[in-house]
Amino acid sequence: MSEIRDNRRRFLLKAVVAATALPLLGRMSPVQAAPLPKLPLTNAQAKALSYTEDASKTKHAAFKPGSNCANCQFFTAATGACTLFPGFSVAPKGWCSAWAKKAA
Ligand code: SF4
Repeated sequence: MSEIRDNRRRFLLKAVVAATALPLLGRMSPVQAAPLPKLPLTNAQAKALSYTEDASKTKHAAFKPGSNCANCQFFTAATGACTLFPGFSVAPKGWCSAWAKKAA
């Protein structure tokens, strides 16, 4: 009889702990991803694609006025990531010769 009471007590204790802890877990914020490091201008691919942090300063023949990373299809505004430079962020006002207009 006392074994049944102990089991019941343990079950109730676990239920109380679970009922208390679960709502707290739900309030915890997810781990924030570390911001991406800035693409170094010395990066070989950045050099090959004539990447610049300021589109207005490029003299590249393929540059189209008004084009920049922010309106490029390879750019992710939330993180500054560019598909062509995995692991790095690029400047929204930047530009490179692989620029392609973002779909509207
Ligand atoms: S591909 Fe687009 S987003 Fe990436 S660096 Fe070049 S212009 Fe910027």
